[in-house]
Amino acid sequence: MKVLVINAGSSSLKYQLYDMTDETVLAKGLVERIGMDSSILTHKPTGKEEVTEVSEILEHTTAIRKVLEKLTDKEHGVLSSVDEIQAVGHRVVHGGETFKGSALVTPEVKAEIRRLFDLAPLHNPPAIMGINAAEVNMPAVPNVVAFDTAFHQTMEEKVYLYPIPKVLYKKHRIRRYGAHGTSHQYVSRVAAEFLNRPIEELKIITCHIGNGASLTAVKGGVSVDTSMGLTPLEGLMMGTRSGDLDPTVVTFVMNKEELSISEVNSMLNKHSGLLAISGSSSDMRDITDGWEAGKPNETLAFEMYEYRLRKYIGAYAAAMNGVDVIVFTAGVGENSAIVREKTCENLSYLGVELDKELNKVRSGEPRRISTPNSKVEVLVIPTNEELMIARDTLQIVQESK
Ligand code: AMP
Repeated sequence: MKVLVINAGSSSLKYQLYDMTDETVLAKGLVERIGMDSSILTHKPTGKEEVTEVSEILEHTTAIRKVLEKLTDKEHGVLSSVDEIQAVGHRVVHGGETFKGSALVTPEVKAEIRRLFDLAPLHNPPAIMGINAAEVNMPAVPNVVAFDTAFHQTMEEKVYLYPIPKVLYKKHRIRRYGAHGTSHQYVSRVAAEFLNRPIEELKIITCHIGNGASLTAVKGGVSVDTSMGLTPLEGLMMGTRSGDLDPTVVTFVMNKEELSISEVNSMLNKHSGLLAISGSSSDMRDITDGWEAGKPNETLAFEMYEYRLRKYIGAYAAAMNGVDVIVFTAGVGENSAIVREKTCENLSYLGVELDKELNKVRSGEPRRISTPNSKVEVLVIPTNEELMIARDTLQIVQESK
């Protein structure tokens, strides 16, 4: 079965086409600047040259049509006909409390995703545009939605509720939802497979640290706590997001600086984190370069980032009464040996012992970076949210037949 995975943003659309008989990627690509006059389609068929095309793509329906043209193109294509695509999987950021797993798209499911626009105003609307565009271009093909929040729906009430008036939860469903669920679920499963141990027996802390960053405590294969909250702003210090702070900072700053809600939201989401403290960059590569060169602002940014990460690891070890495995994943987690080294250096009280040489190896495969003596297995596992979505899509479509 061939499955197309789509991740639709407001002005972009990423795609990957899988052959699920052996889970290989046949092609992948990206449409950028949708809605602008010079949209860019970058298409990479596996084993062939990447092609880039600039044209006017005003909305997602045209974007998917162009993608399908490329997938079936004589020169750059990998399919003889669009009919070979048997299902489409869509990434959706917010599934609220309704979706505890992936789901087959029906009119009711779409209505529910729309109802959740309030909780993810920037992210859920483009997902609906992506689904509509797939339905228009491939009317006979089933669509499946996979939610970033679904994996965390196993959290207990005592974990997901905020200690604020309960009426706010009843009226507006204000609570912790978390994010990156597909990634946390994927890497925790791969960790158990890699260690050849049943996931039910393991206490795993998954550190998805990329531009956005979140930690999850995975106990017995389910999420018991996660650092992102109502929105992906809570928790760790990130590239441009603040992560945890005293909520009073928000009202205080709004008052003193005469900021509107949207201005303060923009400050916390786009002008905080590594970028704010370093004053130079949100990219961990620049921060570690600056730290190595002894630049004071980058050094402070690096130290704050590592300190906050370590505090959360400690908190989740406490939440689970121990930890067997720590997994590093995503842009920083997979690539920054120095972030992993400095974080683990300060986890010796948990019995973490890092093999510094193994930590420097780059392979693109799941690997162990702890010593044989380490009481906690430390792993680097490349995340693969698209594959997880493709697997869910295949399973749900097969079950629905
Ligand atoms: P992601 O959001 O998972 O795509 O991660 C993107 C982020 O990963 C970038 O903004 C960088 O901060 C970080 N990153 C990528 N490569 C490296 C690297 N070699 N060393 C440190 N950080 C990296």
